[in-house]
Amino acid sequence: MDLNRSAQLFERAQAVLPGGVSRNTIFKSPHPTYVSHGKGCYVTDINGVKRIDFANNMASLIHGHAQPNVTQAIIEQVQKGTAFTLATELEIEFAELLCQRVPSFEKIRFVNSGTEAVMAMIKTARAFTQKSKIAKVEGAYHGSYDYAEVSQTASPATWGDEHQPHSVAVARGTPDNALNDVIVIPYNDVDKALHILNQHKETLAGILIDPISHRVGMIPATPEFIDALYQWSRDNQALLLFDEVITFRTSLAGAQAKYNVKPDLTAIGKMIGGGFPVGAFAGRSDVMQVLDPSQSPLLLPHSGTFSANPVTMVAGLTAMRLFDQPTVDKLNQLGDFARVQLTDTIKKVGIKACVTGAGSMFRLHFKAQAPQHYRHAYTNTLQTQATKYLLNYLFDNGIMMINTGSAMLSTPMGKKEINYLVEQVTSGLTLVKDQFPA
Ligand code: PMP
Repeated sequence: MDLNRSAQLFERAQAVLPGGVSRNTIFKSPHPTYVSHGKGCYVTDINGVKRIDFANNMASLIHGHAQPNVTQAIIEQVQKGTAFTLATELEIEFAELLCQRVPSFEKIRFVNSGTEAVMAMIKTARAFTQKSKIAKVEGAYHGSYDYAEVSQTASPATWGDEHQPHSVAVARGTPDNALNDVIVIPYNDVDKALHILNQHKETLAGILIDPISHRVGMIPATPEFIDALYQWSRDNQALLLFDEVITFRTSLAGAQAKYNVKPDLTAIGKMIGGGFPVGAFAGRSDVMQVLDPSQSPLLLPHSGTFSANPVTMVAGLTAMRLFDQPTVDKLNQLGDFARVQLTDTIKKVGIKACVTGAGSMFRLHFKAQAPQHYRHAYTNTLQTQATKYLLNYLFDNGIMMINTGSAMLSTPMGKKEINYLVEQVTSGLTLVKDQFPA
């Protein structure tokens, strides 16, 4: 195999794709790595190099690559046709499975991505409450809908007072109205958050929250915080909106199972598609009724050419059937094992670093203490360089992770893969300690 093949492909790509890529997540200097194939928890690139996949297409492959039952189900469906302007029994079966699993899911609608799920959930909340504003946690990522992306990745100079964070645009040209209609609250700080919410009592349609936000540091929202947001939303005719696009993997009923209160609506995506593009939003029947096309007037017209397409439905249904209670338990125990082992190795190496996460997800930070919110989790230049160095080292030694230093486990993994990861992280951290003295 020609070792320059990736470089050659990237050159071709740059002529037709902005920056040579179709999504920024795979962008890498001097060029992205191009894949040949994947099987289970291993991925082989076009140079024949095999790595353990701890990225799992940004948390979307709960069973790793080419799971045989999922593959078989897809093949059978593809032979029957891939998209119709007709309904399918599959979408009902899949909706039934998800609604049986999650107490807050009374009705569900499928879409094509997490971004679309969050967007449709917000629009549903607006149509139901007849109010336009949403509140969100500072720095939390919710996909690329104008409103949901406010305050995702701003530079510190734009953040404003931590008691009253600014609504910062991520993209140039974001309409001022989008910024005005998004209220940013600090994470896990009940008093400060309620103080801000109270300034918008009349106009808030809902509060959007990811209960274990990746960008905010991957630490769970406290029950007190969720209870307070829920109570505030009851008192002010607003809705509590969970984004469980990633966190749904933490239990059969998602991360929401750990809290005392039920969100009114939840957006999900990623792993529920069995490796295909997917999103869904679900929740209270009375709220979801705004989507019911038999109603007059119809409060929220909503469609989507590929929504609930049968290939995604059958892949997702098969993957979620395989994701049963013993499987979740085993995967989460493996997550606990990884977090303990990594924390231990950080101590042994004697470097300022820590591990956060829950269930089958974890994130490595070059910080002495687990970050408590976005401002803590934000990495300075040295920490960013150290993360990059470690991830490159791991990549060169057979391990793929997400470029923030996060990892997502999949069901084909076992202790063997975690032990290998810990071994490589140990040598990587030892090098980081020498290269980037704190
Ligand atoms: N919400 C969260 C919490 C996410 O992590 C993501 C994707 N990383 C999204 C929404 C958007 O999902 P998608 O990339 O499928 O549009």
